[in-house]
Amino acid sequence: MSKTVSYAEMTAFLEAVAKPGFITVTEEGRTHQGRKVLLVRLNRGSAKAHFRVLYYAQQHGNEVAGKDAQLTLIRDIAEHPERLPLDVDLYLMPMLNPDGAEAHRRMNGAGADLNRDHLLLAQPETQALHRVARRIRPHVAVDSHEFGRDSEDFRAKGWAPWPIITMDAANHPLIPEYLTAAALEAVAAAAPLEQKAGHAYARYSVGGAPPDEETRPSTVEVDDGRNGLGTLGALSFIIEAGVHHEAKDPNADLGERVDGYRILYRHLLGNQAWRDRIRRLAEQARREPLPPFIATNVFWANLGGKVSTVKVQETATGHVLQVPTANAMNDIVVKGSVPTPRAYAIEAAAAARFIPVLEAQGLHWETLSAPRRAKLERVKFLRLEEPYDDLYQRYKDRQIVERQAQADLDLPAGTLIVPLDQDLARRAIQVLEPCLLYGLYGYPGFRESAMPGAFLPVSRLF
Ligand SMILES: [Zn+2]
Repeated sequence: MSKTVSYAEMTAFLEAVAKPGFITVTEEGRTHQGRKVLLVRLNRGSAKAHFRVLYYAQQHGNEVAGKDAQLTLIRDIAEHPERLPLDVDLYLMPMLNPDGAEAHRRMNGAGADLNRDHLLLAQPETQALHRVARRIRPHVAVDSHEFGRDSEDFRAKGWAPWPIITMDAANHPLIPEYLTAAALEAVAAAAPLEQKAGHAYARYSVGGAPPDEETRPSTVEVDDGRNGLGTLGALSFIIEAGVHHEAKDPNADLGERVDGYRILYRHLLGNQAWRDRIRRLAEQARREPLPPFIATNVFWANLGGKVSTVKVQETATGHVLQVPTANAMNDIVVKGSVPTPRAYAIEAAAAARFIPVLEAQGLHWETLSAPRRAKLERVKFLRLEEPYDDLYQRYKDRQIVERQAQADLDLPAGTLIVPLDQDLARRAIQVLEPCLLYGLYGYPGFRESAMPGAFLPVSRLF
Protein backbone atom coordinates (compact mmCIF):
# COMPACT_ATOMS: atom_id res chain seq x y z
CA MET A 1 0.00 0.00 0.00
CA SER A 2 1.59 3.26 -1.09
CA LYS A 3 -1.38 5.56 -1.53
CA THR A 4 -3.90 6.62 1.06
CA VAL A 5 -7.63 6.28 0.39
CA SER A 6 -9.39 9.56 -0.45
CA TYR A 7 -12.76 10.73 0.83
CA ALA A 8 -14.44 9.92 -2.50
CA GLU A 9 -12.84 6.45 -2.66
CA MET A 10 -13.83 5.77 0.94
CA THR A 11 -17.48 6.75 0.48
CA ALA A 12 -17.72 4.67 -2.73
CA PHE A 13 -16.13 1.67 -0.98
CA LEU A 14 -18.44 1.93 2.04
CA GLU A 15 -21.48 2.23 -0.19
CA ALA A 16 -20.41 -0.92 -2.04
CA VAL A 17 -19.61 -2.96 1.05
CA ALA A 18 -22.70 -2.02 3.12
CA LYS A 19 -25.00 -4.96 3.81
CA PRO A 20 -28.20 -4.57 5.82
CA GLY A 21 -28.00 -6.24 9.21
CA PHE A 22 -24.22 -6.75 8.96
CA ILE A 23 -22.38 -3.62 7.78
CA THR A 24 -24.31 -0.38 8.15
CA VAL A 25 -23.08 3.09 7.25
CA THR A 26 -24.71 6.18 8.73
CA GLU A 27 -24.07 9.89 8.41
CA GLU A 28 -23.44 11.39 11.86
CA GLY A 29 -22.64 14.97 10.89
CA ARG A 30 -21.65 17.39 8.13
CA THR A 31 -18.40 19.29 7.95
CA HIS A 32 -18.06 23.03 7.30
CA GLN A 33 -17.48 22.21 3.61
CA GLY A 34 -20.47 19.87 3.44
CA ARG A 35 -18.72 16.49 3.60
CA LYS A 36 -20.20 13.60 5.58
CA VAL A 37 -18.84 12.34 8.88
CA LEU A 38 -19.54 8.62 8.55
CA LEU A 39 -19.98 5.85 11.09
CA VAL A 40 -19.64 2.21 10.07
CA ARG A 41 -21.17 -0.47 12.29
CA LEU A 42 -20.19 -4.12 11.94
CA ASN A 43 -22.28 -6.60 13.83
CA ARG A 44 -23.20 -10.20 12.97
CA GLY A 45 -26.69 -9.77 14.33
CA SER A 46 -26.16 -11.91 17.40
CA ALA A 47 -28.17 -11.11 20.53
CA LYS A 48 -24.84 -11.61 22.35
CA ALA A 49 -23.13 -8.61 20.67
CA HIS A 50 -22.69 -6.73 23.96
CA PHE A 51 -19.04 -5.72 23.67
CA ARG A 52 -19.01 -2.30 22.04
CA VAL A 53 -15.86 -0.98 20.41
CA LEU A 54 -15.35 2.44 18.79
CA TYR A 55 -12.30 3.05 16.60
CA TYR A 56 -12.03 6.59 15.19
CA ALA A 57 -9.35 8.13 13.01
CA GLN A 58 -8.09 11.12 11.08
CA GLN A 59 -9.14 13.93 13.39
CA HIS A 60 -5.96 15.36 11.91
CA GLY A 61 -6.49 15.34 8.16
CA ASN A 62 -2.88 14.64 7.22
CA GLU A 63 -2.56 11.59 9.54
CA VAL A 64 -3.86 8.80 7.38
CA ALA A 65 -2.76 5.30 8.45
CA GLY A 66 -5.53 4.72 11.01
CA LYS A 67 -8.21 5.36 8.40
CA ASP A 68 -6.56 3.07 5.85
CA ALA A 69 -6.19 0.34 8.48
CA GLN A 70 -9.87 0.64 9.43
CA LEU A 71 -10.91 0.32 5.79
CA THR A 72 -8.85 -2.86 5.37
CA LEU A 73 -10.42 -4.16 8.59
CA ILE A 74 -13.89 -3.54 7.12
CA ARG A 75 -12.85 -5.27 3.87
CA ASP A 76 -11.49 -8.29 5.78
CA ILE A 77 -14.65 -8.66 7.84
CA ALA A 78 -16.88 -8.19 4.77
CA GLU A 79 -15.01 -11.04 3.05
CA HIS A 80 -14.67 -13.21 6.18
CA PRO A 81 -17.55 -12.41 8.55
CA GLU A 82 -16.40 -15.18 10.91
CA ARG A 83 -13.38 -13.01 11.80
CA LEU A 84 -15.69 -10.69 13.74
CA PRO A 85 -16.49 -12.38 17.07
CA LEU A 86 -20.23 -12.81 17.62
CA ASP A 87 -20.20 -10.82 20.87
CA VAL A 88 -18.48 -7.76 19.30
CA ASP A 89 -20.44 -4.71 18.18
CA LEU A 90 -17.80 -2.81 16.21
CA TYR A 91 -18.14 0.88 15.33
CA LEU A 92 -15.66 2.72 13.12
CA MET A 93 -15.34 6.40 12.24
CA PRO A 94 -12.45 6.15 9.80
CA MET A 95 -12.34 9.77 8.64
CA LEU A 96 -13.44 12.33 11.23
CA ASN A 97 -11.95 15.27 9.37
CA PRO A 98 -12.69 14.83 5.66
CA ASP A 99 -12.15 18.55 4.93
CA GLY A 100 -8.64 18.35 6.37
CA ALA A 101 -8.03 15.00 4.65
CA GLU A 102 -8.87 16.44 1.25
CA ALA A 103 -6.64 19.48 1.87
CA HIS A 104 -3.79 17.29 3.30
CA ARG A 105 -3.74 19.34 6.45
CA ARG A 106 -4.13 18.88 10.19
CA MET A 107 -6.95 21.36 10.79
CA ASN A 108 -10.59 21.01 9.79
CA GLY A 109 -12.43 23.19 7.26
CA ALA A 110 -12.77 26.00 9.82
CA GLY A 111 -9.07 25.91 10.71
CA ALA A 112 -9.70 24.22 14.08
CA ASP A 113 -7.57 21.46 15.61
CA LEU A 114 -10.21 18.81 16.36
CA ASN A 115 -8.10 17.02 18.95
CA ARG A 116 -8.02 20.27 20.98
CA ASP A 117 -11.78 20.69 20.79
CA HIS A 118 -13.00 18.08 23.25
CA LEU A 119 -13.82 20.58 26.04
CA LEU A 120 -15.73 23.10 23.97
CA LEU A 121 -17.00 20.70 21.27
CA ALA A 122 -17.43 23.71 19.03
CA GLN A 123 -16.84 21.82 15.77
CA PRO A 124 -19.38 19.63 13.92
CA GLU A 125 -16.88 16.76 13.65
CA THR A 126 -16.13 16.52 17.39
CA GLN A 127 -19.81 17.03 18.19
CA ALA A 128 -20.61 14.04 15.96
CA LEU A 129 -17.96 11.89 17.64
CA HIS A 130 -19.24 12.67 21.14
CA ARG A 131 -22.88 12.13 20.15
CA VAL A 132 -21.91 8.70 18.81
CA ALA A 133 -19.83 7.89 21.90
CA ARG A 134 -22.67 8.84 24.27
CA ARG A 135 -25.19 6.88 22.23
CA ILE A 136 -23.22 3.64 22.01
CA ARG A 137 -21.14 3.97 25.23
CA PRO A 138 -18.22 1.88 23.93
CA HIS A 139 -16.26 -0.37 26.30
CA VAL A 140 -13.14 0.24 24.21
CA ALA A 141 -12.45 3.51 22.36
CA VAL A 142 -9.39 4.20 20.23
CA ASP A 143 -8.19 7.47 18.72
CA SER A 144 -5.80 7.19 15.77
CA HIS A 145 -2.99 9.58 14.80
CA GLU A 146 0.47 9.84 13.25
CA PHE A 147 3.48 11.62 14.68
CA GLY A 148 6.40 13.13 12.76
CA ARG A 149 9.76 11.34 12.81
CA ASP A 150 11.62 14.36 11.44
CA SER A 151 11.76 16.56 14.53
CA GLU A 152 14.61 19.05 14.54
CA ASP A 153 16.18 18.15 17.90
CA PHE A 154 16.46 14.48 16.90
CA ARG A 155 17.87 15.41 13.51
CA ALA A 156 20.50 17.63 15.10
CA LYS A 157 21.88 14.48 16.76
CA GLY A 158 21.66 12.36 13.61
CA TRP A 159 18.69 10.43 14.97
CA ALA A 160 15.03 9.80 14.32
CA PRO A 161 12.44 8.57 16.85
CA TRP A 162 12.65 4.77 16.89
CA PRO A 163 9.09 3.42 16.84
CA ILE A 164 6.89 3.22 13.77
CA ILE A 165 3.80 2.28 15.77
CA THR A 166 2.91 3.35 19.32
CA MET A 167 -0.02 3.25 21.72
CA ASP A 168 -0.94 4.78 25.07
CA ALA A 169 -3.92 4.73 27.40
CA ALA A 170 -6.14 7.41 28.89
CA ASN A 171 -4.71 8.43 32.25
CA HIS A 172 -6.71 11.26 33.78
CA PRO A 173 -7.04 10.97 37.59
CA LEU A 174 -10.85 11.15 37.29
CA ILE A 175 -10.76 7.82 35.44
CA PRO A 176 -10.86 4.98 38.00
CA GLU A 177 -7.40 3.50 38.50
CA TYR A 178 -8.44 -0.04 37.56
CA LEU A 179 -9.48 1.13 34.07
CA THR A 180 -6.16 2.87 33.50
CA ALA A 181 -4.29 -0.19 34.80
CA ALA A 182 -6.21 -2.57 32.51
CA ALA A 183 -5.54 -0.27 29.54
CA LEU A 184 -1.82 -0.09 30.30
CA GLU A 185 -1.72 -3.92 30.45
CA ALA A 186 -3.12 -3.94 26.91
CA VAL A 187 -0.49 -1.38 25.82
CA ALA A 188 2.29 -3.66 27.15
CA ALA A 189 0.73 -6.85 25.77
CA ALA A 190 0.88 -5.46 22.22
CA ALA A 191 4.69 -5.40 22.21
CA PRO A 192 5.33 -9.08 21.33
CA LEU A 193 2.64 -8.95 18.60
CA GLU A 194 4.27 -6.01 16.85
CA GLN A 195 7.74 -7.47 17.39
CA LYS A 196 6.67 -10.72 15.72
CA ALA A 197 5.49 -8.72 12.70
CA GLY A 198 8.78 -6.80 12.61
CA HIS A 199 7.36 -3.39 13.54
CA ALA A 200 9.22 -1.13 16.00
CA TYR A 201 6.66 -0.59 18.79
CA ALA A 202 6.75 1.44 21.99
CA ARG A 203 4.37 3.08 24.40
CA TYR A 204 3.49 6.42 22.83
CA SER A 205 5.47 9.34 24.19
CA VAL A 206 5.84 13.04 23.49
CA GLY A 207 8.76 15.37 24.05
CA GLY A 208 12.18 15.99 22.60
CA ALA A 209 15.38 14.04 21.99
CA PRO A 210 16.93 12.28 24.99
CA PRO A 211 18.88 12.68 27.21
CA ASP A 212 18.59 16.48 27.44
CA GLU A 213 14.97 16.95 26.53
CA GLU A 214 12.05 15.64 28.53
CA THR A 215 10.04 12.69 27.23
CA ARG A 216 6.76 11.57 28.78
CA PRO A 217 3.95 9.19 27.89
CA SER A 218 1.23 11.01 26.01
CA THR A 219 -0.22 13.90 28.08
CA VAL A 220 -2.65 14.31 30.98
CA GLU A 221 -4.83 16.79 29.08
CA VAL A 222 -8.59 16.25 29.00
CA ASP A 223 -9.04 18.17 25.79
CA ASP A 224 -8.41 15.20 23.50
CA GLY A 225 -10.32 12.14 22.39
CA ARG A 226 -8.35 9.71 24.54
CA ASN A 227 -9.10 11.27 27.93
CA GLY A 228 -12.36 12.84 26.73
CA LEU A 229 -13.95 9.50 25.78
CA GLY A 230 -12.10 7.61 28.53
CA THR A 231 -13.96 9.71 31.07
CA LEU A 232 -17.26 8.29 29.76
CA GLY A 233 -16.17 4.92 31.19
CA ALA A 234 -14.21 3.11 28.48
CA LEU A 235 -10.81 1.58 28.07
CA SER A 236 -9.55 4.44 25.94
CA PHE A 237 -6.40 4.57 23.84
CA ILE A 238 -4.45 6.62 21.37
CA ILE A 239 -2.49 4.94 18.59
CA GLU A 240 0.17 6.92 16.75
CA ALA A 241 2.17 5.72 13.77
CA GLY A 242 5.49 7.40 12.96
CA VAL A 243 5.77 9.20 9.63
CA HIS A 244 8.71 10.80 7.88
CA HIS A 245 6.63 13.77 6.71
CA GLU A 246 9.68 15.29 5.06
CA ALA A 247 10.68 12.18 3.13
CA LYS A 248 10.44 12.34 -0.66
CA ASP A 249 7.43 10.03 -0.45
CA PRO A 250 6.03 9.97 3.11
CA ASN A 251 3.73 7.14 2.08
CA ALA A 252 6.46 4.82 0.83
CA ASP A 253 6.10 2.94 4.14
CA LEU A 254 2.33 3.42 4.48
CA GLY A 255 1.83 -0.34 4.25
CA GLU A 256 3.98 -0.93 7.31
CA ARG A 257 2.16 1.74 9.32
CA VAL A 258 -1.21 0.30 8.30
CA ASP A 259 -0.08 -3.20 9.26
CA GLY A 260 1.12 -1.91 12.64
CA TYR A 261 -2.30 -0.35 13.12
CA ARG A 262 -4.19 -3.51 12.07
CA ILE A 263 -2.30 -5.56 14.65
CA LEU A 264 -3.35 -3.13 17.41
CA TYR A 265 -6.97 -2.88 16.26
CA ARG A 266 -7.20 -6.69 16.27
CA HIS A 267 -5.37 -6.92 19.59
CA LEU A 268 -7.91 -4.58 21.21
CA LEU A 269 -10.79 -6.84 20.18
CA GLY A 270 -9.14 -9.35 22.55
CA ASN A 271 -10.46 -12.80 23.34
CA GLN A 272 -13.72 -13.74 25.00
CA ALA A 273 -12.34 -13.74 28.54
CA TRP A 274 -10.68 -10.33 28.08
CA ARG A 275 -13.82 -8.82 26.56
CA ASP A 276 -15.97 -10.08 29.42
CA ARG A 277 -13.53 -8.64 31.96
CA ILE A 278 -13.20 -5.26 30.24
CA ARG A 279 -16.96 -4.93 29.84
CA ARG A 280 -17.40 -5.55 33.58
CA LEU A 281 -14.69 -3.01 34.44
CA ALA A 282 -16.03 -0.29 32.12
CA GLU A 283 -19.56 -0.73 33.41
CA GLN A 284 -18.31 -0.67 37.00
CA ALA A 285 -16.46 2.59 36.21
CA ARG A 286 -19.72 4.16 35.01
CA ARG A 287 -21.37 3.41 38.36
CA GLU A 288 -18.33 4.44 40.42
CA PRO A 289 -19.12 7.28 42.86
CA LEU A 290 -17.13 10.46 42.38
CA PRO A 291 -13.91 10.72 44.38
CA PRO A 292 -14.04 13.08 47.40
CA PHE A 293 -11.33 15.28 45.85
CA ILE A 294 -10.66 16.53 42.32
CA ALA A 295 -7.05 16.74 41.15
CA THR A 296 -6.58 20.24 39.75
CA ASN A 297 -2.85 20.32 39.01
CA VAL A 298 -1.39 17.16 37.51
CA PHE A 299 1.89 16.66 35.71
CA TRP A 300 4.44 14.06 34.65
CA ALA A 301 7.57 13.61 36.73
CA ASN A 302 10.37 11.13 37.37
CA LEU A 303 9.92 9.99 40.96
CA GLY A 304 13.34 9.48 42.51
CA GLY A 305 15.26 10.54 39.42
CA LYS A 306 15.36 7.05 37.90
CA VAL A 307 17.59 6.51 34.89
CA SER A 308 15.79 4.79 32.04
CA THR A 309 16.57 4.28 28.37
CA VAL A 310 14.92 5.64 25.27
CA LYS A 311 15.44 3.92 21.91
CA VAL A 312 16.35 6.10 18.93
CA GLN A 313 17.27 5.25 15.37
CA GLU A 314 20.60 6.42 13.96
CA THR A 315 19.62 7.95 10.64
CA ALA A 316 22.86 7.22 8.76
CA THR A 317 23.07 3.52 9.66
CA GLY A 318 19.53 2.59 10.67
CA HIS A 319 20.98 1.19 13.92
CA VAL A 320 18.97 1.32 17.11
CA LEU A 321 20.67 3.13 19.99
CA GLN A 322 19.65 2.91 23.64
CA VAL A 323 20.07 6.36 25.15
CA PRO A 324 20.20 6.51 28.97
CA THR A 325 18.25 9.45 30.36
CA ALA A 326 16.88 10.70 33.67
CA ASN A 327 14.51 12.98 31.76
CA ALA A 328 11.97 10.29 30.96
CA MET A 329 8.96 11.30 33.07
CA ASN A 330 6.91 8.18 33.60
CA ASP A 331 5.07 9.02 36.83
CA ILE A 332 1.93 11.12 37.18
CA VAL A 333 2.04 13.53 40.10
CA VAL A 334 -0.93 15.32 41.62
CA LYS A 335 0.21 18.69 42.91
CA GLY A 336 -3.14 20.19 43.91
CA SER A 337 -6.69 19.03 44.70
CA VAL A 338 -9.98 20.56 45.79
CA PRO A 339 -12.99 18.94 47.51
CA THR A 340 -15.61 17.69 45.06
CA PRO A 341 -18.67 19.98 45.11
CA ARG A 342 -22.28 18.83 44.74
CA ALA A 343 -22.89 20.98 41.70
CA TYR A 344 -21.62 23.95 39.72
CA ALA A 345 -23.53 27.23 39.48
CA ILE A 346 -23.12 29.26 36.30
CA GLU A 347 -24.10 32.90 36.60
CA ALA A 348 -27.06 34.03 34.51
CA ALA A 349 -25.04 36.57 32.52
CA ALA A 350 -22.79 33.76 31.21
CA ALA A 351 -25.60 31.29 30.45
CA ALA A 352 -25.67 31.97 26.71
CA ARG A 353 -21.97 31.19 26.43
CA PHE A 354 -22.14 27.99 28.49
CA ILE A 355 -25.35 26.41 27.19
CA PRO A 356 -23.91 25.36 23.78
CA VAL A 357 -21.03 23.62 25.60
CA LEU A 358 -23.36 21.87 28.07
CA GLU A 359 -25.56 20.74 25.18
CA ALA A 360 -22.65 19.49 23.06
CA GLN A 361 -21.33 17.54 26.08
CA GLY A 362 -24.75 16.01 26.77
CA LEU A 363 -24.85 17.43 30.30
CA HIS A 364 -28.00 18.12 32.30
CA TRP A 365 -28.66 21.39 34.06
CA GLU A 366 -31.44 23.30 35.72
CA THR A 367 -32.20 27.00 35.18
CA LEU A 368 -33.38 28.67 38.39
CA SER A 369 -36.78 30.27 37.87
CA ALA A 370 -36.65 32.00 41.25
CA PRO A 371 -33.75 33.07 43.51
CA ARG A 372 -32.34 30.31 45.70
CA ARG A 373 -30.12 30.48 48.77
CA ALA A 374 -27.15 28.09 48.60
CA LYS A 375 -23.80 27.33 50.19
CA LEU A 376 -21.41 28.55 47.57
CA GLU A 377 -17.69 28.70 47.03
CA ARG A 378 -16.82 31.44 44.61
CA VAL A 379 -13.51 31.44 42.76
CA LYS A 380 -11.57 34.59 42.08
CA PHE A 381 -9.54 34.71 38.88
CA LEU A 382 -6.02 36.08 39.39
CA ARG A 383 -4.31 35.70 36.03
CA LEU A 384 -3.70 33.54 33.00
CA GLU A 385 -0.02 32.55 32.79
CA GLU A 386 1.00 32.74 29.19
CA PRO A 387 4.56 31.44 28.94
CA TYR A 388 5.57 27.80 28.78
CA ASP A 389 6.37 26.60 32.27
CA ASP A 390 9.97 25.40 32.17
CA LEU A 391 9.90 24.13 35.73
CA TYR A 392 6.96 21.76 35.29
CA GLN A 393 7.38 21.47 31.50
CA ARG A 394 3.77 22.42 30.94
CA TYR A 395 2.01 24.45 28.32
CA LYS A 396 0.84 28.02 28.53
CA ASP A 397 -2.60 29.23 29.62
CA ARG A 398 -2.44 28.13 33.23
CA GLN A 399 -5.38 29.45 35.20
CA ILE A 400 -4.26 30.91 38.52
CA VAL A 401 -7.26 31.28 40.83
CA GLU A 402 -8.09 31.79 44.48
CA ARG A 403 -10.90 29.88 46.20
CA GLN A 404 -13.06 31.94 48.53
CA ALA A 405 -14.53 30.71 51.83
CA GLN A 406 -17.90 28.98 51.61
CA ALA A 407 -20.76 31.37 52.21
CA ASP A 408 -24.56 31.31 52.08
CA LEU A 409 -25.42 33.39 49.04
CA ASP A 410 -28.52 34.14 47.01
CA LEU A 411 -28.39 32.75 43.49
CA PRO A 412 -30.54 34.95 41.26
CA ALA A 413 -33.13 33.59 38.84
CA GLY A 414 -31.53 32.57 35.55
CA THR A 415 -28.56 30.88 37.27
CA LEU A 416 -27.70 27.50 35.74
CA ILE A 417 -27.17 24.63 38.17
CA VAL A 418 -25.19 21.65 36.83
CA PRO A 419 -25.55 18.83 39.37
CA LEU A 420 -22.83 16.22 39.82
CA ASP A 421 -25.22 13.36 40.55
CA GLN A 422 -25.61 12.86 36.80
CA ASP A 423 -24.33 10.13 34.52
CA LEU A 424 -21.60 12.26 32.94
CA ALA A 425 -20.48 13.99 36.14
CA ARG A 426 -16.80 13.36 35.43
CA ARG A 427 -17.13 15.12 32.11
CA ALA A 428 -18.94 18.02 33.83
CA ILE A 429 -16.00 18.38 36.22
CA GLN A 430 -13.43 18.38 33.42
CA VAL A 431 -15.35 21.08 31.60
CA LEU A 432 -16.57 23.29 34.45
CA GLU A 433 -14.34 22.98 37.53
CA PRO A 434 -12.96 26.53 37.94
CA CYS A 435 -9.92 25.47 40.00
CA LEU A 436 -8.34 23.36 37.25
CA LEU A 437 -4.89 24.60 36.29
CA TYR A 438 -5.84 24.01 32.65
CA GLY A 439 -9.43 24.66 31.71
CA LEU A 440 -11.97 26.72 29.86
CA TYR A 441 -10.47 30.15 30.43
CA GLY A 442 -7.58 29.60 28.07
CA TYR A 443 -10.05 29.29 25.17
CA PRO A 444 -11.42 32.03 22.95
CA GLY A 445 -14.95 32.93 24.00
CA PHE A 446 -14.14 32.14 27.64
CA ARG A 447 -10.80 33.90 27.95
CA GLU A 448 -12.62 37.23 27.71
CA SER A 449 -14.93 36.31 30.61
CA ALA A 450 -12.03 35.88 33.04
CA MET A 451 -11.02 39.28 34.41
CA PRO A 452 -8.09 39.52 36.85
CA GLY A 453 -9.45 40.18 40.34
CA ALA A 454 -13.05 39.28 39.42
CA PHE A 455 -15.02 36.12 40.21
CA LEU A 456 -15.24 33.44 37.54
CA PRO A 457 -18.73 32.80 36.13
CA VAL A 458 -18.72 29.25 37.55
CA SER A 459 -18.97 28.74 41.32
CA ARG A 460 -18.71 25.55 43.37
CA LEU A 461 -21.93 24.63 45.14
CA PHE A 462 -22.08 22.53 48.34
ZN1 LIG B 1 -2.73 13.82 15.37
